[in-house]
Amino acid sequence: MKKWFRIAGLASALFLPGILFAQQSSELPAFKQEAVSEVDRLQTFTQQMVDQIFSYSELGFQEVETSRYVTGILEKNGFRVERGVTGIPTAWVATYGSGKPVIAYITDIDCIPRASQKPGVAYHDPMIEGAPGHGEGHNSGMAVNVTAALVLKKLMEGHKIAGTIKIFPGVAEEILGSKAFYVRAGLFKDVDIVLGTHVWHEFSTSYGTGDGKWSGLVSVQYFFHGKAAHAAGAPWDGRSALDGVSLMNAGWEFRREHLRLQQRSHYVIINGGDQPNVVPSEAAVWYYFRELDYPHIKSLYGIGNTMAEAAANMSDTTVDRKLVGSAWPPFFNKVIAETQQKNIETVGMPKWSEADQTLAKALQKEIGAKVEGLKEKIEPLKEPEKNPIGGGSDDVGDISWNVPMVYLMYPANIPNLPGHSWANAVSMATPIAHKGSTAGAKVQAMTALDFLLQPELVKQAWDYFRNVQTKEIHYESFLAPEDKPAIEMNKEKMERFLPQLKKYYYDPAKYKSYLEQLGITYPTVKGQP
Ligand SMILES: [Zn+2]
Repeated sequence: MKKWFRIAGLASALFLPGILFAQQSSELPAFKQEAVSEVDRLQTFTQQMVDQIFSYSELGFQEVETSRYVTGILEKNGFRVERGVTGIPTAWVATYGSGKPVIAYITDIDCIPRASQKPGVAYHDPMIEGAPGHGEGHNSGMAVNVTAALVLKKLMEGHKIAGTIKIFPGVAEEILGSKAFYVRAGLFKDVDIVLGTHVWHEFSTSYGTGDGKWSGLVSVQYFFHGKAAHAAGAPWDGRSALDGVSLMNAGWEFRREHLRLQQRSHYVIINGGDQPNVVPSEAAVWYYFRELDYPHIKSLYGIGNTMAEAAANMSDTTVDRKLVGSAWPPFFNKVIAETQQKNIETVGMPKWSEADQTLAKALQKEIGAKVEGLKEKIEPLKEPEKNPIGGGSDDVGDISWNVPMVYLMYPANIPNLPGHSWANAVSMATPIAHKGSTAGAKVQAMTALDFLLQPELVKQAWDYFRNVQTKEIHYESFLAPEDKPAIEMNKEKMERFLPQLKKYYYDPAKYKSYLEQLGITYPTVKGQP
């Protein structure tokens, strides 16, 4: 099957009606080589972007400095930028070129609460105690995509390649907060191919449901309203909103046993009242309901809503809810993945230094993970897992059900880490992240060239999208018409840490790297003199 695709692609590329395309597609290998050299030439630029965004450490919906910085670079380089799209202040679209095909790059920009960590240090050592930090590595994605986009622009100008490049930020990905709104607003209506990218410890891509460790979800907050009273003097006059929350959680824990094994659900109490001698008149709990497909997610969400109403009845309180995020489970395009895989294999893994491996192994040892250092091999493209078990979510899922899309995983982090933690921030402003991002940028640029120069390949990707992926499953948004992006989220948390974070913003005019600015010896591991 794979072979057939390749031969068909080649044959149709040769018999295209447009002489220009035919000529240019024969130059494809040379253009790709040029793209690789150009990405190499921009290594310092890529490194500075990785370090700069690491130093901003901004939580979802509060990516103000990050967005200002990235859009500034893009505008300076001749991209048209539209800001504040879909009513999200930190969302934007940058565009270069005109006409078809339209290739879009997307990657996340937000960070993780409490993940502050000194880069290059192989044990927990926060830069600012309790502050947000890039404990997922989203600081490197824009360095990958912007580097690739600048290189593409240069090639498109130099060789008169037709088409359009768009760049989108994944705002508030950690709370699955933006991309369903992008889709609802029609931002991808004219897009032909989406090349998403995400930090990982492998250099890989996938299609279909991939390794089966993806879930979709609805993220929803339940607000219980009761009646305040003196908790000792007149408790019978009060109605506790916290009782509502507690009963809902107890109910959910009993119900959990009777749900499909594929579900994942978890909650945090975001308001438990003010102090014990006041019957809480307000309390709130935040749930993630995860499942493998739209009907099962809908059903889980429905059970949650019933549970909330029942808990309100039991506690004689009232409840309302706010949907703060949603995501379809991602499904990636086979044609793009096969094309991308060849580019991954051409580029190869970065050459890790002894210092890189020392850091990786020391961190793995420190957290009690398997000590095996950094990956040095690229795996072949795998068949999708036939029995998905579910796992994390990403709101790129919504995009993947509207446009042919893949997700390039580039090797900028250390294997065997827990995810969403300080440990995942350790490598993210070090040569590991810098080299991994340069490698990722090469593949992003090469894959875009594949689709810019071979219209037949775009057609094949859409054939797979229409006739395989969406033959029986049709996208429906989890969003109700009245749902709005939760742009107020994380505002207070971010304001609390901003004055301290500002002191640590990276200054590339003075320091070659962020490690140099912070005065960190690379690598810093336990047991050193
Ligand atoms: Zn992520």
